[in-house]
Amino acid sequence: MTRERTIIAAAITTAAHLTATAAFAESGEQISVLHAGSQPSSAGAPETFTGTVRVTSRFKGTGPARIGGGIVSFDPGARTAWHSHPLGQTLFVTTGIGLVQHWGGDAQEIKPGDIVWIPPGVKHWHGAAPDVGMSHLAFSEALDGKAVDWMEHVAADQYAN
Ligand code: MN
Repeated sequence: MTRERTIIAAAITTAAHLTATAAFAESGEQISVLHAGSQPSSAGAPETFTGTVRVTSRFKGTGPARIGGGIVSFDPGARTAWHSHPLGQTLFVTTGIGLVQHWGGDAQEIKPGDIVWIPPGVKHWHGAAPDVGMSHLAFSEALDGKAVDWMEHVAADQYAN
């Protein structure tokens, strides 16, 4: 990088920091820390999950933010119903062995450390392997307040394939 470019880059970085600081101050909102264990876990609803599923550490952005999510833990064989996300979804696998599949495709095994990106509108499901549970962090952005469109359950023969 030339000296001039370095100076310009530094100026842009500084301007970005100042803008971010100003925006934070104007919103009047403060940083919030949602401490571990401060909210109860909830069971995955039977309308939208098969098997035993627990959701913990739910979070949602405020103001114009669209981000939301939580930690989802699936017992062996447990899974979501078929669904899609209007703005897509990212999964970070934290424990166990899981499966993810899009409509018309093969199920893929996912393991701790794997990051899954599900593009907007893609019909899919995710869950645990048949004999091993799985947990993942799930993040998605809401469109008009909605982050998921639920569909039919994943039938046993679909899950076994
Ligand atoms: Mn999903």
